[in-house]
Amino acid sequence: MLERRELFPNVIELNFQARRRLGCCVYLIFSGAEWMLLDIGYEDTVDELIELIRQLDFPLVNCRYLVATHADADHVQGFHRAKALLPGAQLVAHPEAKIILESGDRIASFAEIPAQQISISMPEFRIDQEIQEGDKLKLGDVELEVWDTPGHATGQLSFRFGSLLFSGDNIFRDGCVGSIDAHHGSDIPAFIESLKRIQSSPVQWLLPSHGPAFRNERRLLQSAIDRLDRYQHMADFGTCAVDWPLLDEWEEELAKGTRPDGSA
Ligand SMILES: [Zn+2]
Repeated sequence: MLERRELFPNVIELNFQARRRLGCCVYLIFSGAEWMLLDIGYEDTVDELIELIRQLDFPLVNCRYLVATHADADHVQGFHRAKALLPGAQLVAHPEAKIILESGDRIASFAEIPAQQISISMPEFRIDQEIQEGDKLKLGDVELEVWDTPGHATGQLSFRFGSLLFSGDNIFRDGCVGSIDAHHGSDIPAFIESLKRIQSSPVQWLLPSHGPAFRNERRLLQSAIDRLDRYQHMADFGTCAVDWPLLDEWEEELAKGTRPDGSA
């Protein structure tokens, strides 16, 4: 049996447990005999992760939930395989993530990016239970509070657990945020609201879906909010921007006949 390396009480992160990078963060939350997983990562690491869990002395039949933070392939490609190894687990996701997953939408899940010749398999599975804002996931004598935090993806969930927030792809330790991509259902105004909510919450620690956990520091969140606020008015993010002030300026200059040197 392996010694459990808890990241916080009742929380194990499997990359941290293994002391090496296996893929996205996979959080195992436990209470008494029951446990659950947030995300599982790619299919080819599932067997290794489940074997690690077994060696940590968590009976596989006691896994209650296998939760998708959102529908991205790098988080959920292994769900089908994991479900086969964890027969007691309910597959859980936001209703909008469920639509993407069950309809086999390979674009919205990033399984297929034709322009970059990225095409990976996405084994089919059904979601057993939908969760969204205000729901609670009960586990033994603890519970996780479900937050809708859209922006990076539609159906992006976060989970509050006391002073911790499993924060998905909202923000990472270096201040980067989950990728912004129109084909992925990204929404910059919603993203800003999600970041503001996290920033103003009493949560002390953020446990992201990629990279190490970090403090919920006002300044770090504010710099991401300010950056995304600028993105809303920049052409860089194409149809994800809400406007482009340069075109209004141009219209005025066209009407006046303004020349490149500023003269009319
Ligand atoms: Zn991700």
